[in-house]
Amino acid sequence: MHKSKVAAISVSVALAAMLGTALAAPAAAVDPRAVDEPHVTVEYFPEPGGEGRRTEVPVSTEAATGGAAHRSAAPTTGTTDGEVGELAVTGPSADRLDVVIIGDGYTADQQDDFHAAAAAKWGDITGIEPYSSYQGLMNVWTVDAVSAESGITGDPTADVTKNTALGSYFWCSDTERLICADIDKVASYAAKAPEADLVVVVSNSTKYGGAGYSGLEAEGYPFDGVSTLSSDNAQSSMIAAHEIGHSVGLLADEYTYDSYGTWSGGELPDINSSVLTTDQMAADRTKWYRWLGETDPTGGSVGTYEGSSYYPYGIHRPTSNSLMRALDVRDFNLPGREAMIAGFYREANALSSGTRRSSAVLRTAAIRVSRAELTGLAAPELRWYIDGVQVRRAQGLTAVTPAGLGVAADGRAHTVTVRSADRTTSIRDPRVLAETAESLTWTVKPSRHKAPSKH
Ligand SMILES: [Zn+2]
Repeated sequence: MHKSKVAAISVSVALAAMLGTALAAPAAAVDPRAVDEPHVTVEYFPEPGGEGRRTEVPVSTEAATGGAAHRSAAPTTGTTDGEVGELAVTGPSADRLDVVIIGDGYTADQQDDFHAAAAAKWGDITGIEPYSSYQGLMNVWTVDAVSAESGITGDPTADVTKNTALGSYFWCSDTERLICADIDKVASYAAKAPEADLVVVVSNSTKYGGAGYSGLEAEGYPFDGVSTLSSDNAQSSMIAAHEIGHSVGLLADEYTYDSYGTWSGGELPDINSSVLTTDQMAADRTKWYRWLGETDPTGGSVGTYEGSSYYPYGIHRPTSNSLMRALDVRDFNLPGREAMIAGFYREANALSSGTRRSSAVLRTAAIRVSRAELTGLAAPELRWYIDGVQVRRAQGLTAVTPAGLGVAADGRAHTVTVRSADRTTSIRDPRVLAETAESLTWTVKPSRHKAPSKH
């Protein structure tokens, strides 16, 4: 579901040095016009299982690698280029968080490999909670992008260049494990799928690498984040799992840079960073105070651990380690998990109905609702009401008639309401619980029993 629809801008292409040249003479080879090239922040993880780093990169690959703009496109006639596939479609896009996975470095003959890689990557991500329990709130689409050559630039070594559909490449910003892509090309393929909320680029490579772009809406793109990752490296999946933590859970990084020293600012809005100590947080009843002392899925217990949001001192994170700190742990901590679930419900609706609400329904007509299939941590609940009064025996039903619920044929209009909520123990904040609540109301046409015939 789109939170904002903004037309993609076309980015003027400024030529910078070709990758190989840049490595040989990084400073002198940069074209001065590249200064005007829009840059965005990307996050990357130099070591598998390690902590993240961030840098600024241009949104267009041509600016970084040169030449690619003048290459011939891949032969697309008779190929599946641009074809949209359904990897996991669970409901209408208007009610779902839509994830679009696009492949790069796959030739026309290798699109089956791409589909297998996309399924494997999504399987890795949904092996992690709360993605696992809440995948019913998500749709996952694939878009075929046919590349002229197999593999991507910078694999296996920095001097290798490939002509690919999305221009993705290792050694972005002189960093071997940082995979950048041409965001304009990514956007043009993503636009073929319904309403992309999150975009994942899977690059055809066995080498560990990836990145997380953020802040793209500010550059005019219809989605805010893009994750890149290599296809045949198991640890690369964790990069996307972490990046979605930013874009959906609005979570801060919990890792630090030694050089940043002590945080001297005030309290940050981030859910999982706080200047408060455990005692202060408990006393102020703020941030993650509801989870303090609980045993956490990451191991250890929830408290206030010094070092978060890049600052090693003066600011705290909820647990010693978590997926928002390093990729060697496969879990969000409890405050992070709650924030992720809140994010899923912000972007998606668990309750849908094809029964019209624009006009009154007959007392004997069926009202049908469908509920996202939620498992594991989730505890979905469905309740029915007549004129605001709950009909307890109808709890959990997905098809009712007003008459069956007990709407009287008394010549008056009545309403039937269905409410869903998620009573998961992974939510403790009442405001988050309120985000899970959804309701639909129908007006029932007045009706009256025929008067009994008298003899
Ligand atoms: Zn991060």
